[in-house]
Amino acid sequence: VLKYSPFVVSFHKHYYPWVQLSGHAGNFQAGEDGRILKRFCQCEQRSLEQLMEDPLRPFVPAYYGMVHRDGQAFNQMEDLLADFEGPSIMDCKMGSRTYLEEELVKARERPRPRKDMYEKMVAVDPGAPTPEEHAQGAVTKPRYMQWRETLSSTSTLGFRIEGIKKADGTCNTNFKKTQALEQVTKVLEDFVDGDLGLLRKYVARLEDLREALENSPFFKTHEVVGSSLLFVHDHTGLAKVWMIDFGKTVALPDHQMLSHRLPWAEGNREDGYLWGLDNLIRLLQGLAQG
Ligand code: ATP
Ligand code: MG
Ligand code: MG
Repeated sequence: VLKYSPFVVSFHKHYYPWVQLSGHAGNFQAGEDGRILKRFCQCEQRSLEQLMEDPLRPFVPAYYGMVHRDGQAFNQMEDLLADFEGPSIMDCKMGSRTYLEEELVKARERPRPRKDMYEKMVAVDPGAPTPEEHAQGAVTKPRYMQWRETLSSTSTLGFRIEGIKKADGTCNTNFKKTQALEQVTKVLEDFVDGDLGLLRKYVARLEDLREALENSPFFKTHEVVGSSLLFVHDHTGLAKVWMIDFGKTVALPDHQMLSHRLPWAEGNREDGYLWGLDNLIRLLQGLAQG
């Protein structure tokens, strides 16, 4: 459990363990009251700055600029857990692809055979490598990247669950192979303990988010990859969702715009974000009907 609580934060003199559902534990630190620090990333800074002036502002953590601590740079932002009492939290990674097109291009430049990636692949599915890959005992990085996307619901639903920590203390970050619609539905239902009131609040919030996304100049002009929706609710019935993690959110070349719903074909840069959100909303609506 310690792994998911890298530090204790305070808000209005009230102390609680902060929860981190993905990424390296060392990437975050407690900030000032009600704020956290995330290891600095230029791309994320650019996105957060622009989002503060966009219709999406109510759906992202407030951004307070870059700060330095112990010689390291951080982005300081709102702690989205601060208003909750013993919250349940879920990180859902959005989109039908979780690497940037430029990462794929770079990985192809020098496609060295990678033993480490072969081993990770075999550990998950010994039948996944081709006979040649088995003979080499290695796979290339682009091959590994594309294979990994087919394991989870990323490629089939346009989102995947990264991690869940519930108010009762249970924590699960092992959803890498959760792909089938029925499995994903069960995980979501368990996250809210079947509470229809919570489900309706989440659906309403996501519908508002979808509308804001469809009206957002920022969203139209950016490839949004590896970004998550952070779901948070508590025993008082408060339930909200925010967009987080803009480390791989990049501006498109001049005048290019994305639908975020069309299928990806290499070169079109479509990320499947809205396709995934449509699927997620439909799934939660189904559960909210009881
Ligand atoms: P990765 O790229 O592997 O997902 P990362 O280092 O980019 O990791 P994030 O995804 O931004 O980090 O955040 C990791 C986790 O930290 C989230 O899953 C969430 O639990 C928590 N978190 C991030 N930002 C906030 C925030 N503003 N308020 C509360 N919790 C947050
Ligand atoms: Mg993330
Ligand atoms: Mg990230």
